[in-house]
Amino acid sequence: MSENRQIREMMKDKKRIVIKIGSSSLQHTQTGDLDYTKLDVLVRELCDIRNRGKDVVLVTSGAVAVGRKAVLMQGIDEDDPTAVKQACAAIGQARLMMTYQKIFAEYNQVAAQILMTKNTIIDNLNRFNARNTFAELFKLGVVPIVNENDTVATYELGIGDNDTLSAIVAALIGADMLILLSDIDGLYTDDPRKNPNAKYIEVVDGLTDELMEMGKASTGSSSGTGGMNTKLQAARIAGNMGVDMVIANSADIKVIHRILAGQNIGTLFKAHKEEGFDLPLYVQQMTHE
Ligand code: GLU
Repeated sequence: MSENRQIREMMKDKKRIVIKIGSSSLQHTQTGDLDYTKLDVLVRELCDIRNRGKDVVLVTSGAVAVGRKAVLMQGIDEDDPTAVKQACAAIGQARLMMTYQKIFAEYNQVAAQILMTKNTIIDNLNRFNARNTFAELFKLGVVPIVNENDTVATYELGIGDNDTLSAIVAALIGADMLILLSDIDGLYTDDPRKNPNAKYIEVVDGLTDELMEMGKASTGSSSGTGGMNTKLQAARIAGNMGVDMVIANSADIKVIHRILAGQNIGTLFKAHKEEGFDLPLYVQQMTHE
């Protein structure tokens, strides 16, 4: 069996999985309204992971986008003042959770909301409390749904993007797998939408400087904040903490169970646990680019 096949086979044994989905994957491109078909499939996939006796966490964006829609503002405008974005997040987060709760209830599952900031990780007591809350939720068989607390997080407090947030969550709760659902199939040597010669990378066995530089050159989608750079940052945190990570295309949400069944989907980032990696210190020193 090839080495890649062997690693993929190991996905079957993952016990605690974090799944991240971005705003652009949850909305219809034409209208910006929520794509209920996708949301339904997403929740069904998560509930099925629970039904297999595994722990699962959803990291979801969409608060700002859904809030903007609710008060009839179109799309996302990066130039909105912070207070406007935060007001939209306050409106949208509640709406987003209401929608998730409804669908989870249809599958007889209980979902919980956890909103985090940088401080949740940096502050020892906050981090201790957050970890205990997750542990208790898992014991109760509940699916935690996480987002950044956008209504209070400002530049100093903010993690800034949900790719990084999902890796931090995976690290915090001792997950063994992180799946980032994106609008791209995985990692390419260049942006395939702009460069037809861009090559798809199946497995990343260590984050080289060259790879990190490549990520910096990429840009994010119009409604979320994550480009390839934030995904590689996420891979760095996850990898250092011993969490394997896959980036896959959210066009078909059912890739989730296929990845966990060991299929060769998306780009796999092999974890290389770094003893002594200090998560709180790393998060404290993180800067937005
Ligand atoms: N937390 C933001 C939201 O829910 C999105 C951040 C991101 O897309 O990475 O709107």
